Amino acid sequence: MQTFKGTKIVNGIAIGRIKIYKTPDYVISEELVSDIGAEIERFEAARVKVQEQQNALYEKEMKEGRKDTAGIFEAHAMMLDDEDTLIDPCKEIMAEGHTAEYAVRAAFDNAATEFSEMEDEYFRARSADVIDLKNSMLDVLFGNDTESLQGTEPAILVAEDLAPSETVKLDKSLLLGLVTRLGSSNSHTAILARSMNWPTLIQCHDIADDWDGKFAILDGYNSCIYIEPDQKTIDELSAKQAEDKAREEKLKELKGQPSVTKDGRKVKLYANIGGPKDIQAVIENDAEGVGLFRSEFVYLNSKEDPSEEAQFAAYKQVLEGLSPRMVIIRTCDIGADKTIDYMQLDKEDNPALGFRAVRICLTRPDFFKRQLRALLRASAFGNLGIMFPMIISLWEVKKCKEILEECRKELEAEGAKIGKYEIGIMIETPAAALCADELAEEVDFFSLGTNDLTQYTCAIDRQSANLEPFANTHHPAVLRLIRETIEAGHRHNTWVGICGELGADPTLTEEFLKWGVDELSVNPKSILPLRGNVRNADLSKFKTESPKAVDPKKEPKGFFGRLFS
Ligand code: PEP
Ligand code: MG
Repeated sequence: MQTFKGTKIVNGIAIGRIKIYKTPDYVISEELVSDIGAEIERFEAARVKVQEQQNALYEKEMKEGRKDTAGIFEAHAMMLDDEDTLIDPCKEIMAEGHTAEYAVRAAFDNAATEFSEMEDEYFRARSADVIDLKNSMLDVLFGNDTESLQGTEPAILVAEDLAPSETVKLDKSLLLGLVTRLGSSNSHTAILARSMNWPTLIQCHDIADDWDGKFAILDGYNSCIYIEPDQKTIDELSAKQAEDKAREEKLKELKGQPSVTKDGRKVKLYANIGGPKDIQAVIENDAEGVGLFRSEFVYLNSKEDPSEEAQFAAYKQVLEGLSPRMVIIRTCDIGADKTIDYMQLDKEDNPALGFRAVRICLTRPDFFKRQLRALLRASAFGNLGIMFPMIISLWEVKKCKEILEECRKELEAEGAKIGKYEIGIMIETPAAALCADELAEEVDFFSLGTNDLTQYTCAIDRQSANLEPFANTHHPAVLRLIRETIEAGHRHNTWVGICGELGADPTLTEEFLKWGVDELSVNPKSILPLRGNVRNADLSKFKTESPKAVDPKKEPKGFFGRLFS
């Protein structure tokens, strides 16, 4: 038995075989080959396989009633029959002695550029399809399709690192746990792992290719992985895994119980989700609402810029599925570590300080309006909160609201039904926290994004493993900004929640309640343990007077609905 240490992200035990996951590496050789026929055969085989994959996706989407997305895959399959645009140019390049990979990249990129320069909007949008097909062709040519990436049996996945876009594409039914050499505790991949409750270890520097296929136990409690464990370890940790299951069962007793402290202070316990697939987890864990629906995962899960209809369908499904619970949908927070090919964003030296979230939305109003229209239409099907991320200035909030209002008027003129909704912003930059009084005048609620607030306040890149020793999630500057934001919000009758990872930190629950937080939004699996913490808390022991909550009788500031109505 060998033991290797790492940093745990999620407690828990995973027992099974290891599958080494290799991030696709597209270093394409420029060398000429002598066997042109063999390259053409490889190309043909890849083309047929990708076409089969697209047809299978079409069938799956149709079966699940998503005609819109099914149409995309049907079109993709047809494009791979297009001799003039894609196939012949590839063959011509291979006839010069280039590899199939080289030909695919050159010919598909060329076709994508031609599409992107066309007048007609429909054809311009096909550029993203061609890029997507290029990636699928390269996946197959490099042997990196899902089957070879993840295998076919449930396994502990071991990887160098995983981008959020790769993580969302993993087949969850095949994932027992996750181990990476790199990664940081606050990255979106770590957040996804927490929300899925996968036992996860990052910064395990000793991972090796020869672990592939070996039997192992990932022990989140002791932050290590045992390769080929002895029988004693297997027995001990199997028993611990069974205990975990029993504890989870016991927590279920808290379902339906109010989230209220011993001295009667109520708090809303909401869930963080990434899309309709999480509806069940919200219900199963008895969350009282959704405090953060990271809508960018709808974009990350999509092969092309999702249409208004596709977005409307996703938001409506969540609102309807969780009604009458409140669902706060954050507008697209793409950028930084969440990159998407079809967005064609420039590479930046400092992406976390770069073109992301509302900065993209306010620069690309058509893109933004598609989402806002979908949100407004979905508002008729539940209790919606619309939240804008990465705010630093008052004008950004005013501009977001102005565009939202423009969409509302357009939709009303079209006869669309629009329901009630609240408007809020993320407080995740020191600029926003320090200007909270001014910002509060404009919105119904704040939600503290403590992941980014910590990153920007402490100047600690949340993606960097090297900076972990400097990262202090309880840094007094961050805690002071949280407290002052709650107080500023309440001065203006704006309710304040926390949706960053700190919201689930049991050592801070009493502190947050004492400061008057109105809502905590955490990954679904943390709801019941957190409810246990809240119910064990007693704020009467603090000498200081608890801050006042929002006055329930006061009218919202020109918007619809109230959390405390
Ligand atoms: C945050 O920054 O705390 C947050 C909730 O948003 P995200 O983690 O998606 O950046
Ligand atoms: Mg954030």
